[in-house]
Amino acid sequence: EMLIDKKSYALFVIDRAEAAYGIATGKRIHVQEHLVSNIMGKHRQGGQSAQRFERLIEEAAHNFFKRATEHASSYWLPHLENIQAVIVGGPGATKDFVVKNDYFHHEIAKKIAKATFDVGYSNESGVRELVENAGQLMGEIELDAERQVMNRFLEELIRAHPKATYGEAMIKQALTQGAVDTLLVSEGLRGNIIQLQCKKCGHGREEPWEVRLTRQQEFPSCPSCGASGDSIKELASHSIIESLSQMAEESNSEVTYISIDTEEGSQLMQGFGGLAAILRYPMM
Ligand SMILES: [Zn+2]
Repeated sequence: EMLIDKKSYALFVIDRAEAAYGIATGKRIHVQEHLVSNIMGKHRQGGQSAQRFERLIEEAAHNFFKRATEHASSYWLPHLENIQAVIVGGPGATKDFVVKNDYFHHEIAKKIAKATFDVGYSNESGVRELVENAGQLMGEIELDAERQVMNRFLEELIRAHPKATYGEAMIKQALTQGAVDTLLVSEGLRGNIIQLQCKKCGHGREEPWEVRLTRQQEFPSCPSCGASGDSIKELASHSIIESLSQMAEESNSEVTYISIDTEEGSQLMQGFGGLAAILRYPMM
């Protein structure tokens, strides 16, 4: 069983000969099943009218569409709340026929992306091609979901008793109390909080000297004596995102990472220190 995380996409490709479905999570694509119809192998029997043969073919097609969509629906349903969208593709018109004629479970149908995508085959490689072709759409859906959660936070914040808070200290307090429904973490916060000390003058011994750095960045020089390089010693280091996500997990809070690519995302980073939360109850 693969780990299904917050940003998953249900994938489905189909034509009259075959179908395949799976799920994409982050950069991983899992193809769960490849189904083959028996329509193409059917030949008109002696004495069978063309009309009757046509009807049998349509019935077989209907049964195949039903079987493939039912298999896919029951695979996705347990993960529904983590599925951002259902993306459908295929080489021909069957993909649109299946979407328009309500073959999918009604809860799945609500999440089907408006656009369908052309791919070469309705097999495992078709599922992979679907992810490539739908990449831009998936990016837009993600940014849209981020905007929605940021707007929920901002709307809450202007109420008299807001179920919302922000800033590292308040967020930590809310997480400890189990008050956080959804934690919003800016991707601008990636990196580590590192506690430093200067070996030359002792800066950082009395009062903690903390800096926020990525692993690739060098330590700054001492603000008191200007020493640098080997004179600067690391005392402790922690990833702010990691420790907060762990606290969130312990209190069953949802975590949404917000990129800095949207207006709302840059507002989170600039205006709220990169950390905000929608709460289960008002704290102020
Ligand atoms: Zn110093």
